[in-house]
Amino acid sequence: MHDTLIEDLIDAEVVRKDFPLLAREVHGRPIVYLDSAATSLQPRAVLAAMEQYYETTHANVHRGVYATAEEATNRYEAARVLAGRFIGAPDPAREIVFTKNTTESLNLVAHSWGRTNLRAGDAVLLTEMEHHANLVPWLQLADERGIELRYLPVDGDGRLDLSDLDRLVDGVKLVGVSAMSNVLGTINPLARISEAAHAAGAVVVADGAQSVPHLPVDVAALGVDFLAFSAHKMLGPTGIGVLWGRADLLDAMPPFLGGGGMILDVRLDRFLPADSPQRFEAGTPPIAEAIGLAAAIDYLQAVGMDRIRAHEQRLTRYALDALADRLGPDCRVFGPPAGDDRGGVLSLAFRDVHAHDLAQVLDHLTENAIRHTAAGGTVTLSATRALGEARLQVADNGRGVPFHVQAHIFDRFSGEERGGPGLGLALVKALVELHGGWVALESEPGAGAAFTCHLPEAGQTPEARPELF
Ligand code: PMP
Repeated sequence: MHDTLIEDLIDAEVVRKDFPLLAREVHGRPIVYLDSAATSLQPRAVLAAMEQYYETTHANVHRGVYATAEEATNRYEAARVLAGRFIGAPDPAREIVFTKNTTESLNLVAHSWGRTNLRAGDAVLLTEMEHHANLVPWLQLADERGIELRYLPVDGDGRLDLSDLDRLVDGVKLVGVSAMSNVLGTINPLARISEAAHAAGAVVVADGAQSVPHLPVDVAALGVDFLAFSAHKMLGPTGIGVLWGRADLLDAMPPFLGGGGMILDVRLDRFLPADSPQRFEAGTPPIAEAIGLAAAIDYLQAVGMDRIRAHEQRLTRYALDALADRLGPDCRVFGPPAGDDRGGVLSLAFRDVHAHDLAQVLDHLTENAIRHTAAGGTVTLSATRALGEARLQVADNGRGVPFHVQAHIFDRFSGEERGGPGLGLALVKALVELHGGWVALESEPGAGAAFTCHLPEAGQTPEARPELF
């Protein structure tokens, strides 16, 4: 792992230092953040850009003529152009709509394009791997309008099964597809799907929430008509999302929300909507968030999207190999094998352990993987993390109780032994979780990583021996 990082184009240790949250500890150990698919952390540059904006420039946009209002407007519009260029939009100033998040971007398409263009009996083709954000708005429309929803199935490897694409797309008015699955990590063949959709006369809305942050994305190359994504998954702040749409489609769509900022003219009995994108941005938009998004894009571009993709491909391959190698058939990883159609999202199941329990154990271990073997009276559980190796041995004393537990952590590179009650305790907790039942622990203050571990004797309950818990 370490060698891989050193050889890598991206120096992960240098990049890590840009993220203040990574400096904090959780459960007494440095945090290992593995939840970027849900939301990513922000580098200092993003936080600084937003703070600097609030400290020096904050004003509402598109209405004031005073200096800071014009500056704020210019910076907000510059963020729009940058976001558009980032995904290869031909006309960013017209085609990039700022929303609240991916969910709102997709709802905008369903609400505005869908209600204008879909009638009872029309069909929409989705995939079985869509996030709720690209499913529920269409279900709502199906309820309201009586439209037919069709689904591209997912095969056993977690890829879309396109064998029936031509039949399924026939007669469809819109195809909604995730560019990268948030569950399986599958990178879908959008260009191929778009080609089939367009041949059938359908428009394509792509959910880019997972792809835009992690690989170079070009809407022209993908051939899609709409693309939705969120700033908070690409090192930016929460509260701002993006919808890119083809200018001719956006121009023909009615506003989604009504209010200030989206009108050209308004009377007591009628209004004339502004052109896109203002037409879709009613009310005060997320100004500071747009500036944060621009800083996030600058940061991503400085690192380089190609390098980010290459780095993630290597990490994904490493993670998949390491999980297979260390956990074998105990661990089932979902989604395609490492390769060009696999992103860094990784979902797994460990034996029959409930996902919630496993996540809690991993949270306490702050480790990437655990290995657990049971043989006769000896149980060995070891945990591996990026820079160290921890080993826990539980030796049966012949009578079954008490067990003596010794936890060690070795720094892989210095060969030094390090330890601590926190780690030992976490490992024992993992053991308990994996075995079910309960184990009592005794530890002397200052005893380092040594614990005495009791298994329950007949009739002994936590209530009977509270000092052990
Ligand atoms: N689509 C995909 C593929 C996602 O991963 C997510 C977030 N998990 C969303 C849509 C929704 O994003 P948001 O919560 O920012 O609206």
